[in-house]
Order: sequence, then C-alpha cells, then structure tokens
Amino acid sequence: VDGDTIEIRIPTLEQCETCGGDGAEPGSPVDTCDTCKGQGQVRIQQGFLSIQQACPDCQGSGKKIRNPCKKCQGDGRVQSSKTLSVKVPPGVDNGDRIRLSGEGEAGEMGGPAGDLYVQINVKPHEFFVRDGNNLRANVPVDMITAALGGEIDVPTLKGKVSLRVPAETQSGKTFRLRGKGVQSVRTSSPGDLLVKVSVETPVNLNSKQKKLLEELQESLNESSHSHSPATSSWLDKAKRFFGEHLN
Ligand SMILES: [Zn+2]
Ligand SMILES: [Zn+2]
Repeated sequence: VDGDTIEIRIPTLEQCETCGGDGAEPGSPVDTCDTCKGQGQVRIQQGFLSIQQACPDCQGSGKKIRNPCKKCQGDGRVQSSKTLSVKVPPGVDNGDRIRLSGEGEAGEMGGPAGDLYVQINVKPHEFFVRDGNNLRANVPVDMITAALGGEIDVPTLKGKVSLRVPAETQSGKTFRLRGKGVQSVRTSSPGDLLVKVSVETPVNLNSKQKKLLEELQESLNESSHSHSPATSSWLDKAKRFFGEHLN
C-alpha cells in the first residue's frame, strides 16, 4: 500500500568470469566462422526469395571456438544467484509487474543481458481483503449495540477509527469509509474501506442474563409490531412457496 524497497534473491545465468562470456577457454584462439564469414547471418535461396537467417554453424555469433571454456562448457554463462533491491511503488496489486532493465539473464556468447520482470503477489492480511482500490473488512458488533446503535472501533491501515452504527443494524450490513482504501498506482484518488458487520450472539450467559432475554422475548411476542424483519419476510416467502399455512 505505501510502497517500499524490498530485497529479493533470484537464480540467474550470469556471464562466465573465466572466459568473459565468449565461451572460449582463455588463451585458446577464436576463429571467424567459415559458413557466415563472421556475419552471424546467412542468406538462403527459397524459390524466388532470398531469406536471411541466423547462421546454423555458429548460432549467430560469427565465431568458431576451438576449445570451449571448461567452466561454462562454451555457453558463456554460468548458473548463479543474485540479490537485488526492488523499488515497489505504492498501491501495487496482485499480478502487477516491475521491470528491471538489464537484470535478466546474461546473453549467450557475451550478448547483452535481458530484463527482469518481478511479478507482485500480495500476501493475505489478517483484517483486510483487497478488492481493486477498495479494502474489505469484517467486524463483529454485539447484539445490543446493533439493536440500540452506538460506536464501534474499526481497524484501518492508518490505525483505529470509530464507526457510528445506527440503531436496528442487521448482520451483514456494509458501511463505507471513504478514502480509507488503497491509492492505486493507476488512479489519483484512494479507494474506500468497506466494513461488513456481523452481529454476535452473546455467549456464557448467567441465569440472570438468560432471564432478561426471556423477558425481552415475551415482551416482543406480546407486541403488535414486527421485530424481526428478515424472519417475517422469510416466513411470508415460505408460505407462498409451500402454498400452505406454516406455524
Ligand atoms: Zn566460460
Ligand atoms: Zn557462422
């Protein structure tokens, strides 16, 4: 999210130090390839067309080695590994690629090195799930606060904030905290933090607390109002579905 410089260690092919990358044993002569006269390219006639292609005898190097380097078997490269510092820009996401020019594998026969592409995989976070520029988090809220309304603590990337939960909040309700998401590498404004609350059923109740809930239940049953909107609408749907009265 904030960007950083990280160190990575990677396996790679590096230019052979013994032969300096040309693949010839030090001190042994390197001849010019007879087939292409050192050009590395040959022309072949195909019907009316004259096609240029890499020389098959020297693989395009234009040289002929008499004694291949023992260290690299004439390839000019050796298996190695290296540690690199990679500057990770703020807001990178899964699959983003960072190109490090010239940090790829050494070219054949002393040729120029290629580029290294570092592909980003973002590790899962304890609280937050990345969803584009938005972050998602699940936060529990106790039954009483959900019913009466109140403030709950919500984690953000920059520390705790207080979220006002309105009265009659149902489990699964999502609240949007604007600008508390991720500032991506591609856009100028940050995303939002989407907080989904799950209403928690109280546990370890003593007999007094159970009694209070039973009294509450009796009071709710006596009342003429519907106090469980999801249950009521579910029962209505179930009645229509089965075409009979359910008790
Ligand atoms: Zn070598
Ligand atoms: Zn050749």
